[in-house]
Amino acid sequence: MTVRLGEHVRIMSGTEGPPGRCVALEGRIGHQVTCSIYECRGSLCREFNPNNPDGEPNDACDEARRAHGLPPLPRKEPARGR
Ligand code: SF4
Repeated sequence: MTVRLGEHVRIMSGTEGPPGRCVALEGRIGHQVTCSIYECRGSLCREFNPNNPDGEPNDACDEARRAHGLPPLPRKEPARGR
């Protein structure tokens, strides 16, 4: 289910370039999807988070969503002054 990316890394087949669709992804993008190997997914998948540590959406996630015609994730409301 993987392809080589460089000397030491393998990535999921289907994710080599945009728009990309992982071979382990089941369902219809934009409606309902699930990872068919979630419990044993690789480290790259485990480390990917749709949000940055500051809670703002991950630009890479928005880019992937855009490649499939989906809108970016909602941004946090700016803090209001006192
Ligand atoms: S989390 Fe699952 S469906 Fe998503 S890229 Fe990784 S293996 Fe594929």
